Amino acid sequence: MPEDDEEGGKSLQSSSREVFRPIDERRYRIDGQRESATIGYGFNNSGLMDMGAGYNFAQLQQEIFNRSSEKVDWTLCKNEWRVHDIYRVGEEQVCLCGHHPIFQICELKNEVTRQRADVGNVCVQKFIGLKSKRLFAALKRVELDPTRSLNKEALELYTHLRVIGAQDAEEYLSFYRKRKGVSEDQMKFKVAINKKIVAYAAKKAADAAAAYRALGK
Ligand SMILES: [Zn+2]
Repeated sequence: MPEDDEEGGKSLQSSSREVFRPIDERRYRIDGQRESATIGYGFNNSGLMDMGAGYNFAQLQQEIFNRSSEKVDWTLCKNEWRVHDIYRVGEEQVCLCGHHPIFQICELKNEVTRQRADVGNVCVQKFIGLKSKRLFAALKRVELDPTRSLNKEALELYTHLRVIGAQDAEEYLSFYRKRKGVSEDQMKFKVAINKKIVAYAAKKAADAAAAYRALGK
């Protein structure tokens, strides 16, 4: 079956070229989109099928392997990575997979090599399997309305980044899902935390955009 997913890691070798597999010609003719997505790469990742053109999984995988300790087994390799920070940029950037434009960017960090990789939100979820969508959703929610709540994932992220303290995160989590019975002090506290995080994310985005421009891309 050419549609095994990449999780097994069986077909993966140290070079992206070796991932190549012939594509079933029949399937390739029925679906025009599949053609543009697979020509030249021919890898067997089912996740690519609904991604459309421009996302090059083999390229992304190679870039991630290059920054990882594990160089062969994709599943083990992926486990080395965490979402370190997220930001949305106003000017388009290019994903590690070559896809552009991307506006929602995840700064990934490898916990073994300490290396970084900036990857688009879609690829992070589809190919690396990290739950970045919920982070972007939480941030957007409180940007639009600071009386609403972040989620646990976002609070963990910003605690890790030391934008907020662990005790504040704990306090927030003690009432953030309640619809009723939230005191005025709790609401003020939550809004203050939300605003702090929104301000941090805005600065992060501005800094990242400036750094990206400095690279001359
Ligand atoms: Zn990508």
